[in-house]
Amino acid sequence: NKKVVFKGYIEGAPKETDMELRIENIELKAPKGCGAFLVKNLYLSCDPYMRGRMRDFHGSYIPPYVPGQPIQGFGVSKVVDSDIPEFKVGDLVSLITGWEEYSLISQPQQLRRIQQHEHDVPLSYYLGLLGMPGFTAYAGFYEVCSPKKGDYVFVSAAAGAVGQLVGQFAKSHGCYVVGTAGSAQKVDLLKNKLGFDEAFNYKEVANLDAALKRYFPEGIDIYFDNVGGEMLDAALVNMRVHGRIAVCGMVSLHSLVDGRGIHNLYNVVGKRIRIQGFLQSDYLDLYPRFLEHVMSWYKEGKIVYIEDVSEGLENAAAAFVGLFSGRNVGKQVVSLCGP
Ligand code: NDP
Repeated sequence: NKKVVFKGYIEGAPKETDMELRIENIELKAPKGCGAFLVKNLYLSCDPYMRGRMRDFHGSYIPPYVPGQPIQGFGVSKVVDSDIPEFKVGDLVSLITGWEEYSLISQPQQLRRIQQHEHDVPLSYYLGLLGMPGFTAYAGFYEVCSPKKGDYVFVSAAAGAVGQLVGQFAKSHGCYVVGTAGSAQKVDLLKNKLGFDEAFNYKEVANLDAALKRYFPEGIDIYFDNVGGEMLDAALVNMRVHGRIAVCGMVSLHSLVDGRGIHNLYNVVGKRIRIQGFLQSDYLDLYPRFLEHVMSWYKEGKIVYIEDVSEGLENAAAAFVGLFSGRNVGKQVVSLCGP
């Protein structure tokens, strides 16, 4: 059983050497009486929140990783042996699993069954479009942003797992949408494949405030913030009266030891801006409605989804680390399905 093991707690940006590939012999069985089932992991998800589990801090909404143990994260897996009647060989599930070829699951977390009739979408989409990031975009946009037709919407990390969907939801809601991302290739995708009205590469902009003024001469109604830091600071200056900022994440701060200061918070008062952080897990009662909506929009061709697939556990650490330099184009997954 090949696995990717977490070596020890880190500061700053994650590196490939913070993880190690190991091979261990295991019996490919769920032993009688163990109350567990054995899965073959087919796809693993790389998500920015996993960086938070690499520090020795127990006060978060999710506990830290255990050094010496495999990295844990969302996966799509197939049951290959089972000691419990609820799970049968061949069942497909998405759940929290280990970064390894096979995992013995005794207490499934975040488990969802994948039904046979849904298989005309790629299985890996259960980690993106139909999984946690897709649901984050849906709950964040429709529930937190209070969108109205004609709103001016700005999305950061717009070519990523969450951002690409926020932009498409906003467009189909009748909003004007501008995205920002860190490369020319991503800007091209936003404009020509994902239907954003405009997009720009924030790495090539000398002054973010001036850039936002160019793209939003009348100001921003909704800022869907995936990055925090300087981008949030620049957006604050460009918000309209009664604007809304949904703080989904602050990926630019994950790797910094100290948070970067925000200077423009006073705009919140004069412009009566609502800033709301949220966790997708607060909205899980909406999951069935999300799945129904997004599945049908996808099948009708109203939305598209871009994935970045790395092959094999050998490349998993690099795929994860790449989230923090913007190497991924779209949702980053690791395929263990082989050639
Ligand atoms: P992405 O697929 O967007 O990957 C991360 C992207 O962030 C990179 O591709 C990169 O794109 C960008 N990035 C990395 N470092 C920086 C930086 N220093 N400054 C600006 N941009 C940077 O990730 P997700 O879509 O999965 O996640 C997006 C955000 O949503 C994250 O902050 C994540 O933590 C958050 N999140 C929150 C959830 C919630 O419940 N609140 C649930 C899921 C995700 P680029 O090339 O544009 O720089």
